[in-house]
Amino acid sequence: MRVVTMALIDVTNYFLSAVAVALAFATRVHLAFGYLHALVIFALLYLAVVRVPLVLNWSSNLYGSVFLRVFLLHVFAILTYGVAYYYYGDFTPSFDEFTDAVYFSAITWTTLGYGDFSPGGGVRLLTSLQALTGLTALAVLASVVWLYCERRLRSPGRDEQAEESYEVELDSAFGLFRPADTEAARVEQRNRDRIRCARCGVCGAEARIEKYFDIIGRTTPLPRFVTRCVGCGAFSKPSMNAYVAAWRWNRMNRGERAAS
Ligand SMILES: [Zn+2]
Repeated sequence: MRVVTMALIDVTNYFLSAVAVALAFATRVHLAFGYLHALVIFALLYLAVVRVPLVLNWSSNLYGSVFLRVFLLHVFAILTYGVAYYYYGDFTPSFDEFTDAVYFSAITWTTLGYGDFSPGGGVRLLTSLQALTGLTALAVLASVVWLYCERRLRSPGRDEQAEESYEVELDSAFGLFRPADTEAARVEQRNRDRIRCARCGVCGAEARIEKYFDIIGRTTPLPRFVTRCVGCGAFSKPSMNAYVAAWRWNRMNRGERAAS
């Protein structure tokens, strides 16, 4: 179902983009097209916002594509508004080149408003609509950056399950906190037991990857993975990633692994 929604959003997005370009040029014929263009740009912004949670539910690695999409909307809007301004052309002083119109469009979109070009007549209302849309769009772009940073703060090492199990108890051997013995924690342990670990180089017993949390001085627990020998308690250096913890352990105990 989400695939269908995404496809609909993307098709609508391309369609509205084409309409926006057409309306930007049509503004030359009648200013009403300019206002329609303003509405279409706002609709594109709305679609971009609706798309964000859909994409990020899909994969938390798609922040780059979400950011790029919103950023391209900025560039697109600045260019098409620039076309509308260039062809309407009721400015003091008037634009010499298209780049002047794009420049005016950019400083309006970002609400900088240096005031070196003044809009006249009906186009003034269009510039205020652009400023309003631009301000909203910039807030969306900033929100995407914030979402990304917040997620990285919450779950370093991309360990999504870490967010759920906050019940911890101190393991004095490491000075780290162990997840409490819950059903969720046992399921996680069983999953980690599938990662191959070499036998202990000291005593020859099996080793397993255990999960700990570093919670001192942190707003959310930082997961740390340690491969530890069941027999003698020898352990690998803690890592933010279970596979890295296994790799470190296997590197330490390579000789024993070859023998077994
Ligand atoms: Zn051992």
